[in-house]
Amino acid sequence: MRIGCHLSVAKGFQKTVMAAPELGATCFQYFTKNPRGFRGAKALDLNDAARGKALMEELDLVAIGHTPYLINLASPEDELFNLSVDALVQDLVIAQARNTYGVVVHCGKHKGQGVEFGIERMHQALALVLEKNTTEGVMVLIENTAGQGSEVGFTLEQLLAIVEPFSSDQIGFCFDTQHAYAAGILSPDDPREFPGFSNPEFMGRLRAIHFNDSKVPFNSRKDRHQLIGQGAMGLEMMGDILNDPRLEAIPFYLETPVNDEREYKAEIEVCHDLLK
Ligand SMILES: [Zn+2]
Repeated sequence: MRIGCHLSVAKGFQKTVMAAPELGATCFQYFTKNPRGFRGAKALDLNDAARGKALMEELDLVAIGHTPYLINLASPEDELFNLSVDALVQDLVIAQARNTYGVVVHCGKHKGQGVEFGIERMHQALALVLEKNTTEGVMVLIENTAGQGSEVGFTLEQLLAIVEPFSSDQIGFCFDTQHAYAAGILSPDDPREFPGFSNPEFMGRLRAIHFNDSKVPFNSRKDRHQLIGQGAMGLEMMGDILNDPRLEAIPFYLETPVNDEREYKAEIEVCHDLLK
């Protein structure tokens, strides 16, 4: 089973790949660009990408990219909508150069236009992304949201509706445990009862788990991660998810709020201790 974490690429991709095994991570995630902006992205260093890619093979690691938070694939405003489509197209290029199998993007915000509008807008955006896409084999991974503000994609029905027109080779899912708990779809009574885990459409597209505990209560509709076992979800619930045999082949990525990346070593150990 692969368990890893989010890592910085500030010192170059090759350094990120080298950092992963030191933390006990067998998979990792990185931001394709500055997480808070569209600009400020350094030009892709192809040599660094190629060295990192070779090292990943040698060390048997897998990785995914994560798009900046400003991307809004459901935006009613054309400017932000088009900027978001182009940013995602570019992120797929970055991901391919680094041999990372997917790029995670949050479901969009409809900004008062309603869930139906938001889903329709995401269909338009994803169709454009796939039309402009120049890469092969890199998937767009749609991440479920906490349902904060006007976010769409916080129920299983919405998630399935978003991906419905597209091939499961191109559009997959990344499932964030904290978002699902805050959205009220991952129950503290038994997280294994989440209907997605027994839904072939959902499982056929599931390529990544964001494994996070929650700072906020069940169904509070807020995106606030906590360290594993120290939040509202707690060790037992986190263990139930981690040990679900249906998720065994899916890489687990921690995005818990550490002060320093090195603290992920202890977080990954907590996960290994939970494994039965
Ligand atoms: Zn996440």
